[in-house]
Amino acid sequence: KTWHQTGLTSKILETIKKLNYEKPMPIQAQALPTIMSGRDCIGIAKTGSGKTLAFVLPMLRHIKDQPPVVAGDGPIGLIMAPTRELVQQIHSDIRKFAKVLGIRCVPVYGGSGVAQQISELKRGTEIVVCTPGRMIDILCTSGGKITNLRRVTYLVLDEADRMFDMGFEPQITRIVQNIRPDRQTVLFSATFPRQVEILARKVLNKPVEIQV
Ligand code: AMP
Repeated sequence: KTWHQTGLTSKILETIKKLNYEKPMPIQAQALPTIMSGRDCIGIAKTGSGKTLAFVLPMLRHIKDQPPVVAGDGPIGLIMAPTRELVQQIHSDIRKFAKVLGIRCVPVYGGSGVAQQISELKRGTEIVVCTPGRMIDILCTSGGKITNLRRVTYLVLDEADRMFDMGFEPQITRIVQNIRPDRQTVLFSATFPRQVEILARKVLNKPVEIQV
């Protein structure tokens, strides 16, 4: 498979070329067509497999099809991940593409830099990458004045098994219940234990399962 068979826009393809990603990795080759077709997707893949771009590239494509995000709007793409380190990693992968495309991405996690995160959220951003606990705090304490979930139509749960192990399930469920049901949802997990399967069944709609 080549990148040109994945249905991505020319600007995304140019950036992939600059990064010297010669061809899609197996998880990307399998997941991109499914996700680009609008289907919900479960990807069983570990860190290092290239899973991040498998959910990021279709998200960028999806955002380009939407009306612009203005101040006061919430994000179109929401990514939840278990740890601050993973949020920062995903954010840095997105930034390589987002700038060229004029897409903003704000990382949301606890600790330092929260004031800056809040001011960027208020200005409006197309993408939020967050840990679930911190996201709930921001949504609740401000009564929706910092950001909101009304425009979210592309949702990602990354490393779902780890989020489960860390006890984030109630926060994930609470956030998901406030996102419109006609969204597209993508779930990635290194393993697929029964609890994650149950969560997936609640959150995804007729998902295609992909394993590498
Ligand atoms: P991930 O599993 O998403 O953490 O990705 C692992 C690493 O592979 C990251 O450092 C990416 O920058 C890199 N990567 C992602 N896709 C490709 C690709 N198609 N070809 C080469 N490297 C890639």
